[in-house]
Amino acid sequence: MAQPVAIAIHGGAGNIRPENLSPSQAKKVERYLQEVVEEGYRLLQEGRSAIEVVEIAVRRLEDAGYFNAGAGAVPNEKGEVELDAAIMDGRDRKAGAVAAVKKVRNPVTLARLVMERTPHVLIVAEGADSLAQEWELPLRNSVPLSPDVPWSYGTVGAVALDKQGNLAAATSTGGIMGKKAGRVGDTPLIGAGTYAENGLLALSATGQGEYFIRSVLAYDVAARMRYARLSLSEAVREAFHQRLEAIGGQGGVIAISPTGEVFLHFNTPGMYRAAKNAQGHFTVGIFR
Ligand code: ASP
Repeated sequence: MAQPVAIAIHGGAGNIRPENLSPSQAKKVERYLQEVVEEGYRLLQEGRSAIEVVEIAVRRLEDAGYFNAGAGAVPNEKGEVELDAAIMDGRDRKAGAVAAVKKVRNPVTLARLVMERTPHVLIVAEGADSLAQEWELPLRNSVPLSPDVPWSYGTVGAVALDKQGNLAAATSTGGIMGKKAGRVGDTPLIGAGTYAENGLLALSATGQGEYFIRSVLAYDVAARMRYARLSLSEAVREAFHQRLEAIGGQGGVIAISPTGEVFLHFNTPGMYRAAKNAQGHFTVGIFR
């Protein structure tokens, strides 16, 4: 049998309730999520690598303007946008991340280039923005915000399994509305908001970043799978219960196993999410 492919994406978890979103807005976002998943799935079937596909999917979500990432990012307490992103390749656990960048249009692409072109994992602020300029990446002010979208929620992320059996994860965010200047969340921290390792899982988180950092949530799920031999869904549920919820944290994750099992989990009223698993089964949702 051919090696199956699978993909899952999210557009953030939080206080997203039917009363805050009109049915037509909900439809619009669901349609967008579906398009991104279908495109990613097709690319994976064509043989593109998981790392390429998670980058492409997250770029699409950053460019959407619907989510708190890239074009749609929310401002900090000074009214400025500071973006964080990370990407991780499950083949060799190579990773790249940027934090508190202001200029680049697609932080996930900058994170990938940090992984590929430097010996480092995480580069922050002006140092990262000047690399974006040096590498001639498109800058933020070149993208107008979509005028017909008055709302913006949630971090974005993607996880994928490719035909070679490789896993990858990517996450990108504007952080938390009104955050202190210079605050960095879980998103760009490998093992907190983003993690991928072949043979175990790929995971991207969203929610109150401070709690995900304190729980080392993404790696905690991986460790439960490795050492306690739990399944993906058991490991996610236990990590949420015993680590995140034990200290009052809220949020969600998307995760994918080496066999293309997809698990989408959150303890908030909603999470923008969509996936297509190894059996080709498609799901999309916003509310609980
Ligand atoms: N986890 C992100 C952060 O704390 C925010 C979010 O997912 O909405 O920066």
